[in-house]
Amino acid sequence: MSDQRKGGIAWTDHTWNPIRGCSRVSAGCENCYAEQVARRWSGPGQPYEGLVRLDKDGKSKAQWNGRVKFIAEHLTDPLRWTRPRTVFVNSMSDLFHDNVSFSEIAAIFGVMAASPRHTFQVLTKRPARARAFFEWVAAQDAGLDGTAGRLHCVFEALRAEVGEELHREHCADPDGPWPLPNVWLGVSVEDQKNANQRIPHLLACPAAVRWVSYEPALGPVDFRHIDADSAGHEWGQIDSLTGRNTDMGRPWHDAPGKLDWIVIGGESGTGARPFDLAWARSVLSQARKAGTACFVKQLGANATDPPNGLCGAATVVPDHAEAIISKRLKDRKGGDMDEWPENLRVREWPGVTK
Ligand code: SF4
Repeated sequence: MSDQRKGGIAWTDHTWNPIRGCSRVSAGCENCYAEQVARRWSGPGQPYEGLVRLDKDGKSKAQWNGRVKFIAEHLTDPLRWTRPRTVFVNSMSDLFHDNVSFSEIAAIFGVMAASPRHTFQVLTKRPARARAFFEWVAAQDAGLDGTAGRLHCVFEALRAEVGEELHREHCADPDGPWPLPNVWLGVSVEDQKNANQRIPHLLACPAAVRWVSYEPALGPVDFRHIDADSAGHEWGQIDSLTGRNTDMGRPWHDAPGKLDWIVIGGESGTGARPFDLAWARSVLSQARKAGTACFVKQLGANATDPPNGLCGAATVVPDHAEAIISKRLKDRKGGDMDEWPENLRVREWPGVTK
């Protein structure tokens, strides 16, 4: 998943890419930063060779071609990092892409299980596949009880990739907790439709911390009313911030969790789409009431702040020039908090409480 921009990602220390390559899945992918990086490094012998489309003259285009590579030589990088880091997993792919096998995903979870000193931030636009992966892990229990069976599965997958010696050195604690307390599982949502589709799957996945990257924000989102029905789930209306059903009249399954963290950001780069700051203020207000931590990452390159903007009513952003506040910002990503309206200067972190 790419939320990376030149100059780093404000909510992480480090990126780790044991997978390369992806394909677009929704409107949030339209200006995918990872595709642009991949195009630059896709020549013969370069890391992204064979992963992007070519035009009729054989030149690389800034668009993934759907191929995904498992990068075995980078799989164990975190085992070598001695100091604790906060690590964004797969800034140049989506861990739960269809072309990454469950065994490969499990090996990556094996590394995360064997590196408890690091915090891993996983972000996907494919949470239905994430859910299927966790169900697959649960089914590979090798006759062991719950937690031990799941750890056994991911450590065995890691052993298949790295061999006996490394496995023996790093996977000595099969009794550790599950879900892994050092893995934060998140979904990207750019608008209400994708929130309705993706958040119910996220809530169904086992995770110590569940989070949402609302970036690039392309429309207002009401996290208190995730309309799972409209997305084909049978869960009725869910308040994803509290985990409570808000529509008791319809069949639903108890949402087994709630959101711990929401990252908010407008789109940056050429062709950035409008980001109404009223959307951000609304999410901050929703999260504050529910006790969910929020992190405003950036206002982006096309942030508007209409004087009378109201979230929910603001799907059409006024085009009068004075509303486009990005034009007045020195930081072209809108990432300098000092330039923001005071009520948006919020950078909180989730407490690992579950
Ligand atoms: S899922 Fe993420 S990495 Fe893949 S195309 Fe979309 S934005 Fe890019």
